Amino acid sequence: MLIDAHGRKVDYLRISVTERCNFRCQYCMPEKPFSWVPKENILSFEDMFKFVKASIDLGIKKIRLTGGEPLLREDLDKFIAMIYGYDSSIDLALTTNGFLLKSVASRLKNAGLKRINISLDSLIPHKAAKIAQKDVLKDVLEGILEAKKVGLEVKINSVPIQGINDDEIIDLLEFCKKEGFKIRFIEFMENSHATSSLKGLKSSQIQNIISQKYNFLKLPRESSSPAQYFALEDGYEFGIIEPHLDDFCTSCNRIRLTAEGYLIPCLYFEDAMSIRDYVRNGDIDKAVEVLKTVLRNKPEKNKWSEDSNTDSSRAFYETGG
Ligand code: SAM
Ligand code: SF4
Repeated sequence: MLIDAHGRKVDYLRISVTERCNFRCQYCMPEKPFSWVPKENILSFEDMFKFVKASIDLGIKKIRLTGGEPLLREDLDKFIAMIYGYDSSIDLALTTNGFLLKSVASRLKNAGLKRINISLDSLIPHKAAKIAQKDVLKDVLEGILEAKKVGLEVKINSVPIQGINDDEIIDLLEFCKKEGFKIRFIEFMENSHATSSLKGLKSSQIQNIISQKYNFLKLPRESSSPAQYFALEDGYEFGIIEPHLDDFCTSCNRIRLTAEGYLIPCLYFEDAMSIRDYVRNGDIDKAVEVLKTVLRNKPEKNKWSEDSNTDSSRAFYETGG
């Protein structure tokens, strides 16, 4: 079992399989062009899998593949099949922007993927294009509906931003309710890579907007979920991810691996340690030692909850959110 220095059990590994992306969401990517990490620095799926096996043996129960955009990485379905073949009980999930999903959804499902979170910030084409800086909505919606059709459990992630999509909170909720998806609104996490003028909505503001049309109840907090869930009167549940709240980190059960082979203990801080050379050389014991050191150094909480509302310098497209 993996326990961090604050007594939290860590059983959730998030793997960012690439930092590259076919979108440039304003809340995630820098406005100016920048250079990607060279391909030779990126871990192969075979090398990632060596670490995945060791971490499953140590008690990891849930694995999420993310990015950048994970569907840009060739053979993602083969990587999923490798993990599923090693331990079919792993809660195996993917987070994607959905743009390339339509043609691969059934392959991912057949490989062993169980659940999929898809980002959908707007149902209006020009607003979706403004956020992603590309005309994306039609393909994303087709991807979402295909994922549902092939039998994947679908959740929708949405980041409400003032003056851009804050007037669509009810519409997004109603779209998800109609399609049978849970929606989770994510508070914008301030970071130095995002467009600097953006202001996200806090949980209380999101709840205020929803309460203008619906009555809802706050549900007891599930210890392993980053989201606070609420139930409408007809039983439909929606969630809000509230990293600005003081107790958000109390139940953090996760560790992150980047495509370059860095283990990251917290989404907020720059701290990271590399396992790349160890896994490439097959020295898994050393990689596990690094994992244990990173867990010992895992901070107790992020700094988004502080009054000063500080920016993180960590890039979401590297860590996978
Ligand atoms: N490209 C995929 C996608 O967009 O779903 C996976 C990677 S993305 C970094 C994972 C999640 O992080 C997405 O749901 C995205 O909306 C969210 N995200 C990115 N930047 C964020 C920010 N600054 N604040 C809150 N959520 C953010
Ligand atoms: Fe790409 Fe996802 Fe970041 Fe948008 S949020 S730029 S889709 S990695």
